[in-house]
Amino acid sequence: MEFKDLKTQYMRHKEAIDGAIAKTVASAQFIGGEPVTRLEKQLAEYVGVKHCISCANGTDALLLGLMAWGVGEGDAVFVPDFTFFSTAEVVPWTGATPVFVDIDADTFNMSPQALEEAVAGVKAEGRLKPRAVIAVDLFGQPAEYEKIRRITQEQGLLLLEDGAQGFGGRIGEKRACSFGDISTTSFFPVKPLGCYGDGGAVFTDNDEWAQLVRSFKVHGKGEDKYDNIRLGMNSRLDTIQAAVLSEKLAFFDEELENCNRLAGAYTERLRGKVKTPEILPGYYSSWAQYTVQFADEKMRGEAMGRLKEAGIPSMIYYKKPMHALHAFADTQTYRTDCGTAQKVSGTCLSLPLHAYLQESEIDKITGLI
Ligand SMILES: *Cc1c(COP(=O)(O)O)cnc(C)c1O
Repeated sequence: MEFKDLKTQYMRHKEAIDGAIAKTVASAQFIGGEPVTRLEKQLAEYVGVKHCISCANGTDALLLGLMAWGVGEGDAVFVPDFTFFSTAEVVPWTGATPVFVDIDADTFNMSPQALEEAVAGVKAEGRLKPRAVIAVDLFGQPAEYEKIRRITQEQGLLLLEDGAQGFGGRIGEKRACSFGDISTTSFFPVKPLGCYGDGGAVFTDNDEWAQLVRSFKVHGKGEDKYDNIRLGMNSRLDTIQAAVLSEKLAFFDEELENCNRLAGAYTERLRGKVKTPEILPGYYSSWAQYTVQFADEKMRGEAMGRLKEAGIPSMIYYKKPMHALHAFADTQTYRTDCGTAQKVSGTCLSLPLHAYLQESEIDKITGLI
């Protein structure tokens, strides 16, 4: 059994994907060009924002967003304590200080109440200037943007949506990657919309930030690539990857519907036996992961062992909360109480979920659990 079945996806859409790759190779345009411009237009339209700027990966996308805002030394950037490392990793790169915020055990996402407390704590201490919030759409469910937006507005903070796992999700009719002042995503192969290598994108309605991101991603270019007006980086989405993504976007919504149906099947069978993931009313998840919580670490270990014996892969996302990672031991960080993140990291388990999973496979997995 596959945890994410990219092989079946490819075999179902082989002709279209092979055609797009072959066409790009024959054109001998490997950087930029029409496929990249077209994809950016398609993605901006899909998400419902003015600008989409593609880049090399989801980590660069986050960094580019912070660079566009000029986030730096002395700034506090509020980050959920339970996320993939990148979300927090980019903050010290800019010179700013990450402040870890606890999560909500039902959604795995940043707790708006904990955010409010963390901002108040940093303000009271007076050492750092609260500057931005990075909210993550963890496992595919958008963060609680209505509440988070109210806080960022009241406190004068910028909001960055890390939609690396959330692309395709919605709150009502509004799509993920449109909730931040700047939003980002990743096209890493096993993300909801994945390419055949690394890739990422930045989304915003703001013309000035869009222009800055376009400059930063090409060595701080001015009028042209050799007129460097600031220090930037090299962060491009390959033309072949853009061509693959355009093909995959055509059947993306259908895949998401399948994932939602299958997640429902999991929950029906597991409810009351383990803690099943909760999707808030009006929210639509892209189901980057289907993650359950056990009563304790020992029970999780036993379930994992049983699944493994039966040849079923399962993964612990994430084993450690950000504040417990060695990489941040020497980094200047302001820690708030993150008891929920700590607890969840000891009890969570992500199960196989992809658009091509069979209900009979779900029966087998849930039976073992
Ligand atoms: C995958 C991921 C990233 C980073 O994306 P890359 O393309 O691997 O650099 C950032 N944030 C979250 C939440 C992710 O899951």
